[in-house]
Amino acid sequence: MSDLENLPGVGPTTAKKLEEAGFDDLMSIAVASPSELAAIADIGEGTAAKIIQAARQKADVGGFETGDVILERMKERKKLTTGSKSFDELLGGGFESQAITELFGEFGSGKTQIAHQLCVNVQLPVEEGGLDGHAVFIDTENTFRPERIIQMASAYDMDTDEVLKKIHVATAYNSNHQMMLVEKAMEIAKQVPVRLIVVDSLTGHFRAEYVGRGTLADRQQKLNTHMHELLKFGRLNNAVICVTNQVSAKPDAFFGDPTRPIGGHIVGHTAMFRIYLRKSKGGKRIARLIDSPHLPEGEAVFMVNEEGIRD
Ligand code: ADP
Ligand code: MG
Repeated sequence: MSDLENLPGVGPTTAKKLEEAGFDDLMSIAVASPSELAAIADIGEGTAAKIIQAARQKADVGGFETGDVILERMKERKKLTTGSKSFDELLGGGFESQAITELFGEFGSGKTQIAHQLCVNVQLPVEEGGLDGHAVFIDTENTFRPERIIQMASAYDMDTDEVLKKIHVATAYNSNHQMMLVEKAMEIAKQVPVRLIVVDSLTGHFRAEYVGRGTLADRQQKLNTHMHELLKFGRLNNAVICVTNQVSAKPDAFFGDPTRPIGGHIVGHTAMFRIYLRKSKGGKRIARLIDSPHLPEGEAVFMVNEEGIRD
């Protein structure tokens, strides 16, 4: 008998349907929405709500910590260098651990390049701006390029084979799979010190899968759940979380104004950095920090060249 069958209202058939849809533990059910669960398991929304309520009671949904524990955890936050001094300064030293940094911008603005550079830089010793750890790369559009990693690692005279071995890449085939890969990453992080998790792109599958108007709320809720799980990963592992979001310059049907946060306000300002990227003349790129709680708004100019991200 599966774990789920201990929940009131869940028999073998319902448990099977839920498991097949990726809801294979109490936590995933605890954070689901009643309408989502009802559709997946062919049950009424009222029953679904009761199941979710029971799962919340049984699952360890986290909850309360004392202030001193939070203070200790916050003191451990680290900065990961981008490879560019001006970009690092814009971020108060680099990408911060235990927080989500969203890179958004048009196609070709440099999101994937930065993500690759972070996968290399995270392996540098702390004295050199790294976090002396491994990277997890959740790839949704087949953009990961080992050859590019080799170029970037060679620029630092690193052992390129070793660098590639410390980057754990998985391709997500759809949004559910993408979310499950965060759990897989948790397993990897039990074996090796993962200090960076990349999702490139965070929003691609969600945009493609949820198109009708009626699905907007479900989509946003799922995306919010995903962001929460990423944040949890970052906090548990003191890891940097880097997500990309391709936006067009004009407002879009799903996300509306491209400069508005995709996670809504659910992730919380303190845990979110948003960087708008755009191309400039002569191969230059401009990074703009948007509505950050502690840092001044500003811009940094950087380059993408053969060696990677540079001033
Ligand atoms: P996106 O924001 O769509 O993810 P990318 O990060 O893939 O954009 O950026 C692609 C751009 O990065 C290319 O157009 C090119 O300008 C630059 N780039 C990629 N590889 C190299 C390289 N080896 N040398 C110099 N520039 C590169
Ligand atoms: Mg890209």
